[in-house]
Formats: sequence, structure tokens, C-alpha cells
Amino acid sequence: MPAISVFGAQWGDEGKGKIIDRMSREADMVVRYQGGANAGHTVVVRGEKFVLHLVPSGVLHPGKINVIANGVAVDPLVLLQEIEGLRARGVDLGPHSLRLSGGAHVILDVHKRIDLLAERWRGEGRIGTTGRGIGPCYADKAARTGIRVADWLDLELFRTRLQASLAEKNALLERVHGEAPIRIEELMDRHAAARQALAPFVVDTGAEVRAAWRARKTILFEGAQGVMLDLDHGTYPYVTSSSTGTGGIASGVGFPPSWIDRSYGISKAYCTRVGEGPFPTEDDGADGERIREVGQEYGATTGRPRRCGWFDAVAVRYALELNGATGWMVTNLDVLSAFDEIKVATSYDVPARGLKQRSDYPGSVVTLDQVVPNYESHPGWHDDLTATRRYEDLPRRARDYVEWLERLVGFPVVLLSVGPERDQVIPRMAL
Ligand code: GDP
Repeated sequence: MPAISVFGAQWGDEGKGKIIDRMSREADMVVRYQGGANAGHTVVVRGEKFVLHLVPSGVLHPGKINVIANGVAVDPLVLLQEIEGLRARGVDLGPHSLRLSGGAHVILDVHKRIDLLAERWRGEGRIGTTGRGIGPCYADKAARTGIRVADWLDLELFRTRLQASLAEKNALLERVHGEAPIRIEELMDRHAAARQALAPFVVDTGAEVRAAWRARKTILFEGAQGVMLDLDHGTYPYVTSSSTGTGGIASGVGFPPSWIDRSYGISKAYCTRVGEGPFPTEDDGADGERIREVGQEYGATTGRPRRCGWFDAVAVRYALELNGATGWMVTNLDVLSAFDEIKVATSYDVPARGLKQRSDYPGSVVTLDQVVPNYESHPGWHDDLTATRRYEDLPRRARDYVEWLERLVGFPVVLLSVGPERDQVIPRMAL
């Protein structure tokens, strides 16, 4: 059975949680491989809303194995709180259904403090971090001063690593930022209960996932954020600190890339972005406002209003190509029923380079705020799509819109989503 990658093909918040939850019905295992609790994957089950941050989106289906792999930056206190919160709402969550990698890196209070201080320090150049310590945790990982879950579980090793780490971090807090230092005993005390509670969840997740593949289980890899926020391939420096696409799975899980059978990108039928950074199709006028209100575009983790705009065919084509997508899923098609005219960016001009009508993504040669999108329009349909379940029952204009996007982007649309609920989907092709 297949190993399937599902990733965000825009700037995050594409509706991955809902899609992964739905696909989990057919899966045995759901694996998070990057990012941290900056993700907020929303799943709505019969009107009840769950926002998942670290726990994979397969958790609302009993009998699935949910894996937090080594590439994830884990705040143990936040993870424990999330587990307890889900249990309190009746979700059957324990070591039988959730695994945590001993190789995942631990986010500490000091990472969160440095995250916020560094953002303040950047002033006008701020990057829009969620302040959850994920960037500084990954920075420590790359600098080889991080603390892995396995180290954190071993009290003496934790203390030794923490002493070394805090010597440097406290100097930064005190001498650069003029802040109070972090005291090692206090920090260790704060972690004592979490260590005890989470220890039974910790395993070699890479070995388990590979064993599941050998046993012909169906494995879903759940991407967080989106390709345009990828550390290497996104709109640097306004990105997240990990590899958000299919490429992140190999190192973030310990899963051979050649074992991945299929990969699906998810995008909205328009576009949103949270935080700072270039967003070529942003509409800060009445249309953007209408998208925000109709689509309820407010961050699942932060509550921040999302920046809204039109579908960007150049960026989505790039995201799908980069990740070798088998197909593509389009969410929030229902939101576009509010418009007489729907715009799509079909190409970019790059005036600084004398480039016109380019459909190739120029992000590694110019910064994306130097591009000027060229739009084409499509007539709206106004019918309510939220109860539609078959492609042929969609209004003609909605089908034309989807097929037009498909031609522009060059990848098949395999599924459409027309509302936040689990069953509000229109399958188009076999997955
Ligand atoms: P994720 O991080 O990619 O899982 O996306 P978020 O959960 O941050 O944001 C997606 C939002 O859109 C959530 O509030 C979902 O409940 C909602 N949503 C998902 N699919 C649809 C859809 O097809 N139509 C509408 N109107 N809302 C949707």
C-alpha cells in the first residue's frame, strides 16, 4: 500500500488538516515530519472544531498510528497540553496511538524568549514569526547545540546539555537584550511532569515508519506550513525554518525518498498569507476584505487576520513541480461563490529585469516583491456549493474555473473542498 505525501502548495493554511483527516480513514499511519506548534491544522467533525498543533491530523480516527517524527521541533509542555486537551474531549490518545521520536529537537522557554526578542530587534525587517521558539530551536539543531527528546529524557544528560546551552543563551539575554537570565533548576522543574508523562510515547519513529512501509501499510506524510514558506525554496527570509514539502520527509522521518509513491499539493481556490513577506496577488481592497470575511480567514494558531488575495497560478505551478505532485486538491471553492468576477494571476512581469508575462517562478533570482502579477478574469457563479458532492453537479462556471486552473497549473485536480466539514468534498479522481 502506498506512502503518500500531502503538502501545502501556497503560504500555509490551505486546509491540510481537513484533507489529511479525511484521507486518514484509509490510512494506517499519519506522520508529521517538520515544523512545530506553529502549525494549526483545523478539522471540523459534525460541527465540533479541533485545531491540531503538534499531534498529527489522523488522531480523530480511532485505530491509527500518529507519528511526530525527528524533523519536528517539539515543545514538550505544549505537546502534553495538547494531548490532555484532546483526551478531555474524548479523543483516545495514548502511546498506542501516538509516537514521539527520540530524535526530535526540544523547544525550551529560552527559544521562545529569543524568538520574540530577535523579532523585536529586527524592527521594520521583522519576519512575522509566531514566537513559538521554532526558528531558534532549529538554529540550535544546525549549530549542534540543540537538545533532542532522547537527551531530554535522560536527566543527567539534559542537565549537562542545558548548562552548556544556557551559558551562551543567558549571556545573550542579559548582555544583548538586558533581560533576566533563565535559571536551570526552574526550567528543569517545569519539565519534570512532562518528561514523566511523555516518556512512554518515545520510540525510534523512523524504524517504525519504515517497518510499516515494509508491512505494506498506508502511510500519510502530513506537511505543515506551505511550499512558499520552505526554508530553501520559499520567499526567504520570510519563511519557516524547515523543509515543508515532500523533500522534508527523507530527513525529517528517516524515510527513503524512493519509497514515496504519490504526492499531493493542497491550495485554496484563492490565496492567503499570514505574517510578513511578499505576496504578489494580495488584494488589500474590498475583494481581499470580502475573501477574509466569507472565508473566515483568521489564523488557527494566532487568530491574526490573514492577508487575502487571488489565486496565483505561477506560484502554485512552481510548488507542485518542485514536489513532483501526482495531483492537486483545491479547497475553499465555496468561498468564491461570493464574487461576480474572479481573478487569477496567470503570469508575472519583473520590471527590474525587463521580464514580461513570465509564467516561470523567478523567486531564486529576484525577491518576490519585485514581481507584478498579470491577471485574467473568470465570471463568478453565485450558487451555494457547500452541499454539492459530485463534480458534475457543480455549476458550469465553477467547473470551468477548476478546469481553467488545471490548464494554467498543469497538474490534475483530484479533489475539491467546499466547506470545513469532513464530508464537504467533491472527489474527482482516485487518490
Ligand atoms: P491548515 O493549516 O492547512 O490545516 O489550514 P487551517 O486549518 O489553518 O485553515 C484552513 C481553514 O479553512 C480552517 O478554518 C478550515 O476549517 C477551513 N476550511 C478547510 N477547507 C475548507 C473549505 O473547503 N471551505 C471553507 N469555507 N473552509 C474550509
